[in-house]
Amino acid sequence: MISLLGIPYDASSSFMQGPAQAPDLVRSAIYSPSSNLATENGGQFGDHIQDRGNLALDDGPEHREQITKAIEDELEAGHKTLCIGGDHSVAYPILMAYARRGMPLHIIQFDAHPDLYDDLDGDRYSHACPFARLLEEFPDLELTQIGIRTMNAPCQEQADRFGVRVFEMRDFPAASVLNITGPVYISLDLDVLDPSFAPGVSHHEPGGMSVREVLRLIHSIKNPIVGADVVEYNPLRDVNGMTAMVAAKFVKELAAQMIENV
Ligand code: MN
Ligand code: MN
Repeated sequence: MISLLGIPYDASSSFMQGPAQAPDLVRSAIYSPSSNLATENGGQFGDHIQDRGNLALDDGPEHREQITKAIEDELEAGHKTLCIGGDHSVAYPILMAYARRGMPLHIIQFDAHPDLYDDLDGDRYSHACPFARLLEEFPDLELTQIGIRTMNAPCQEQADRFGVRVFEMRDFPAASVLNITGPVYISLDLDVLDPSFAPGVSHHEPGGMSVREVLRLIHSIKNPIVGADVVEYNPLRDVNGMTAMVAAKFVKELAAQMIENV
């Protein structure tokens, strides 16, 4: 069983807010009468999925423990989790729940940005930092980043320190080179896409992937997928809800792949 959770939180965004409104809009796009619930592997979105609604979160730092607790409850019940963000800072408390259970985990992060800053503008829990916080605390976790095109010296230093494997956009990888073993968690920041495919994100970073390129990589992953998140949809930047449809597509295809890869 997969639990779908909305995480309406964007107070850790460095540039602009908006992603807190994303979960309900992505849900609407999933069920939009303009499309249907078919997934590309022949399945139907909704099978083996229960929608847990949106988390009720406080504004202060306690929101992180609230997220972790909600995910822990799902894992305790034997469910996989599929979360709709929220900004990317929510990946840290989500993954904290997985890491605390001692699961061996290989995280695949789709993103234009490494999100490895030790701090950004004095905020150690910024959406630019979640994977630094996670790997500090759980150095045994493995992280592969795909689509990066903003690597700078401080983040490269952190990537080296934590042993992060980085596939920059200029070295766009074939699925076969990922060569990942064991259970996988997929963290999908929508700004991995070229802004022409997904204008509804806070950070327009040109030169990114197409929707199909991301789907091809997701479909190529044969490992068990124990959880996933789709983050950083910002409706305030979207055009005609196009990016909400893209996020909805990813939610449907991730769910299908999570069910298929047992
Ligand atoms: Mn990110
Ligand atoms: Mn990003």
